[in-house]
Amino acid sequence: MTTTTIHWFRRDLRLRDNPALTDAAAQGPLVCLFVLDDEDAGSNATGAASRWWLHQSLVALIKDLEELGGKLILRRGKAAEAISGVTAETGAGRVVWNRLYEPWSVKRDKELKAALNDDGIAAESFAADMIREPWEVETKAGKPFSVFSPYWRVVQAQGDPSPPLPVPEKVTFHDGDIPSDLLDDWGLQPTKPNWAAEIAAEWTPGATGAAQRMAEFLSGPANDYKDGRNFPAMGATSCMSAHLHFGEVGPRQLWHATRSAMESGSVNDAAGWAFLRELGWRDFNRHLLFYNPDTVTENFRDNFDAFPWRDDERAFTAWTKGETGYPLVDAGMRELWRTGIMHNRVRMVVASFLVKHLMIDWRQGEAWFRDTLVDADLANNVGGWQWTAGCGADAAPYFRIFNPVAQGERFDPKGEYVRKWVPELGALPNKFLHKPWEAPDDVRADAGVALGKTYPAPIVDHPAARKRALAAFGAIKNSE
Ligand code: FAD
Repeated sequence: MTTTTIHWFRRDLRLRDNPALTDAAAQGPLVCLFVLDDEDAGSNATGAASRWWLHQSLVALIKDLEELGGKLILRRGKAAEAISGVTAETGAGRVVWNRLYEPWSVKRDKELKAALNDDGIAAESFAADMIREPWEVETKAGKPFSVFSPYWRVVQAQGDPSPPLPVPEKVTFHDGDIPSDLLDDWGLQPTKPNWAAEIAAEWTPGATGAAQRMAEFLSGPANDYKDGRNFPAMGATSCMSAHLHFGEVGPRQLWHATRSAMESGSVNDAAGWAFLRELGWRDFNRHLLFYNPDTVTENFRDNFDAFPWRDDERAFTAWTKGETGYPLVDAGMRELWRTGIMHNRVRMVVASFLVKHLMIDWRQGEAWFRDTLVDADLANNVGGWQWTAGCGADAAPYFRIFNPVAQGERFDPKGEYVRKWVPELGALPNKFLHKPWEAPDDVRADAGVALGKTYPAPIVDHPAARKRALAAFGAIKNSE
């Protein structure tokens, strides 16, 4: 006997390599459902820039499903209520989904599974969002990892993950008329003002856009990835993070595409492994969050609970607006505001600047990123912030305080990145681009730069800020 199955799309907005969808499609009539679950997510709900992305990604998924002859049912509210409504309306006997690892999602899904089973409805979940799920990678003592290198050695020793699944063939969709919200009514996109215009020019959300971006990366920039990934002006990274976050492509697809490119010789081994290692970091952050769910808001290292974070609204605002007077920091923050993305090297520098130079709590920075990044991802964002602050697992040591001038000179030596985002400094010679305050008056005047007028003077003095942070970090270290 065939039973109608609901595939609950979450952050797996793709048809290819979607094990829950493949399973559902093989069972009988299929209902595809997406629930806008702000209520379940609470304070972890999708941020503004990511909501823009989600809208576009759903448009793309709706189109892909229509090409298969199906439709996507849209509901909003608590997932459990939406799903029980759709099971009642369609007579579905089974609900399937792909697993996510954020604490709120794990709890919600567990409760939902139990509730569905109580109602006599089968519920099953599948693995699609990681190369290896958290419990598949453990220490020799059978414990979770908290240090990346040995974690990654185990993942590599496990060999290639299973090959990606194709798009399900010959899908039979449920033929009833199931009520659905209209995507446009969800208001996921900004209107007045439409701050997303520049973001829209930069990205093509959806599985097709993801596949194109990946193909472009593997046929060119990937070869320079190992060294080039640190240079923000080089365009040597994949720009796959938002596609990955929304599951428009799965990490196993990226793994196999990269391995094939390495085998064919189009991507050198060192570059290929360096890229796969970053996918490993993505998994590792999920692993950490799964086993340490309170680190969404709590320091992984609790000696940091005593850290004297400063409450400084003026400095925080200057940071968010890209008006700190440190060109690399300002370039990164402006890139983020305008495009919804920021290069990893620059994320580390701006995050370090906030927590170390300004001594503002990493949670404030994490929240700002969550709202403004199109790739905002709880595990990676919390992991990245805790790592930079020094309070995370396997974190950067507290005494590593990035010098934003030296970072700029090293990773943006010709100033292309800074000139793009901070054009008012464009005419300064490279020698002074990352430290305009050191330029002689006549050089600044010739370049049309007046500190405090056309571009801010530094809001903190680097050596003094460094000293202040080291003293504060040293004090809590001694309290360990
Ligand atoms: P590539 O270099 O091409 O890497 C390929 C993929 O590997 C990425 O798409 C991403 O999924 C993963 N990856 C790369 N670097 C890292 C890393 N350092 N940690 C974990 N995974 C990584 N990444 C997010 O996806 N969402 C976030 O919200 C996020 N917040 C961050 C906050 C801070 C403070 C820092 C320091 C890093 C953060 N990162 C975050 C990690 C990283 O900056 C981005 O994943 C990366 O810049 C995305 O660009 P890409 O796709 O071109 O990366």
